[in-house]
Amino acid sequence: MSESTKNKIYLKSIAKDLSAWYDQNKRDLPWRNTQDPYFIWLSEIILQQTRVDQGMSYYNKFVEHYPTVKHFANAPLDNILNDWQGLGYYSRARNMHAAANDVIENYGGKFPETAAQLIKLKGVGSYTAAAIASFAFKEQIGVVDGNVFRVIARLFDLGFDISDQKNKRHFEHIMDDLVPHEVPGKINQAVMEFGAMYCKPSNPDCLNCIFQDSCLSFANKTVSERPVKLKKIKKKNRYLHYFIDTANDKIPLLKRQGKDIWEGLYELPMVELSDKGALPEADDARLIIEKKHILTHQNLNVTFWDTAYIPDLTEERKDQVQWYSKEEVEQLGKPILIDKFLKEYIF
Ligand code: SF4
Repeated sequence: MSESTKNKIYLKSIAKDLSAWYDQNKRDLPWRNTQDPYFIWLSEIILQQTRVDQGMSYYNKFVEHYPTVKHFANAPLDNILNDWQGLGYYSRARNMHAAANDVIENYGGKFPETAAQLIKLKGVGSYTAAAIASFAFKEQIGVVDGNVFRVIARLFDLGFDISDQKNKRHFEHIMDDLVPHEVPGKINQAVMEFGAMYCKPSNPDCLNCIFQDSCLSFANKTVSERPVKLKKIKKKNRYLHYFIDTANDKIPLLKRQGKDIWEGLYELPMVELSDKGALPEADDARLIIEKKHILTHQNLNVTFWDTAYIPDLTEERKDQVQWYSKEEVEQLGKPILIDKFLKEYIF
């Protein structure tokens, strides 16, 4: 029997076992009971960098507020950003709005059916394109996310560094061969679910695993070393000073501009310093609270000041400051950090 035939038989048996495991163990999640590409797209973008339990309430909210891609595309971006509040990575919400409009304007209101076309939509990467194409349209294409990297790296004892983009192809090839043409979406979901629920990052229960006899990293005692991830992200420190006048009933806010975190969201007047030195203009200001806010690539060191004096914003930024009532503030999309501060210390 040739190596390639043996491989095919091996992959087929893995897919069969995963399918049976999935039938018995999968979580009942609302986006699994649909083949509507719009709902699948919504869930996939919401769940990027978000835990399932947290993502669920957002998914339900979005389905309720925007039941079709047309509703989503026609909604004002500010409403979408407001509903997105708390999920972080606001560029995802902006990209979704652009993608929904693309679907309406250029695809007759229907999501394209292949991964090759889906990837052209804004904010849709190779993983999301493959997920929508295989779940909704049964395209025989494998998905690769963090769970898939782990399960495949362990089953096949692969020592490739997964933080190197070039190595992703190896995993995609294996997944493309693993997913059968009859139920590609199911096997994709099964691998991800198996990674999330059973073959977890630390201390997976290998002794009771359905793949104990065939898993190569279990045989080679390399489970804890798989997958290999070498690159460390170097985080940037930022120092943000926000200002509010607590003697005034209204809240000064302005919209963030430019390509940076929280683009398009509303924040208090702010000065950013390059290091943690004192703020020169803040002599007459009262410190309200200092907070640390950790993002994937940045550590934000944030100080909130109470002062009647709005500090050294550029003239253009000063003109953008508007004063809002509490009710109006609640309707605006804000970074979660600002939202929490206002709720805890001002309202
Ligand atoms: Fe994962 Fe262990 Fe099962 Fe291998 S034996 S697939 S490492 S849980």
